[in-house]
Amino acid sequence: MYYDWKEKTNTEELRVVCNLIRNGEIVIFPTETVYGIGANALDASAVGKIFVAKGRPSDNPLIVHLADKRKIKDIAEDVTEVEQKLIDNFMPGPFTLILKRKPIIPDIVTGGLNTVGIRIPENIIARGIITYSGVPIAAPSANISGKPSGTNIEDIRKELEGKVSAIVDGGQTSIGLESTVVKVVDEIPVILRPGKVTPEDIDKVIGNVKIDKNIFRKINMNETIESPGMKYRHYAPETSCKLVYCEDELDQIFYLKKYIKEYKGDVVVIGFDEHKDKLFLEDKRFISIGKKDDLDGFARNIFSNLREADKMKPYKILIEGVKKEGLGYAIMNRLIRTCEHDMFIL
Ligand code: AMP
Ligand code: MG
Repeated sequence: MYYDWKEKTNTEELRVVCNLIRNGEIVIFPTETVYGIGANALDASAVGKIFVAKGRPSDNPLIVHLADKRKIKDIAEDVTEVEQKLIDNFMPGPFTLILKRKPIIPDIVTGGLNTVGIRIPENIIARGIITYSGVPIAAPSANISGKPSGTNIEDIRKELEGKVSAIVDGGQTSIGLESTVVKVVDEIPVILRPGKVTPEDIDKVIGNVKIDKNIFRKINMNETIESPGMKYRHYAPETSCKLVYCEDELDQIFYLKKYIKEYKGDVVVIGFDEHKDKLFLEDKRFISIGKKDDLDGFARNIFSNLREADKMKPYKILIEGVKKEGLGYAIMNRLIRTCEHDMFIL
């Protein structure tokens, strides 16, 4: 079933959706980061349906969503002082904390790890569904595994309609990138996946932060790493993509032009408004990611822009990169995975 709650949550339908969750079905719903496919996190067979719908590898753990900080102690234990400070400062919000799990969480949720990722979304629809379902909800991003995350219902319906019991439409998600994932190791917060909550934000609160070395590295399938999800191909359309980033703006335009020529113009460029006229492309070969200084806009639209470029089936999608600072960390992390390391960085 499709439910349109763009204007307002329908309480009658909310009851139906929450009953589906309680009865072991899976449901697509919006959060402020991206859309999720949710199931009762305490029901292993319900969670199994998520892995089937997405084609997700079983060692890639799911984040468990709660509506209330007081519920954290039901599923996690031994919360340290640093962890509590992170909870107090960043929850609810686009922030996932990896904590020691309680046995009540089934193995299928955590990929067998002794930890569990916990997030409290801010989005009002997500909070309503979690609250009235009365159970923690395991929910990965709403997309086929390896594809860009779903940030609007049109994209999601094409990919997942018929594979879930309900789809709740809350409009385009406001952030557009998945949550920042953090694990505290030896009292230092380590960012396993960058997101809207930046290293700078965390450093301000804790006075210390590290960024996991795997964030910008290609990971081999047989490696064991802290965040298993990082080793899989991610965020990738069918068309091959190339990331172009130069610290100097003139260089960036020079190399974009060079690659456009090299690929005989059979490209779609996902680029900044300011660069459009300099690239001499037909309108249909240029998708705007907005103005250079609007990283929030870049993040919000990146996955839908990738899908749009993919529909045109060019030989190559060229994507402009950004500086690795603030939200730029998260954007570059996703783009590097998208481009499978076909990058030109100067
Ligand atoms: P997604 O649900 O698609 O947003 O992906 C969830 C991400 O969180 C993946 O990259 C996982 O590797 C990471 N994650 C979830 N639970 C854990 C955990 N217990 N330990 C480390 N990483 C986790
Ligand atoms: Mg995902």
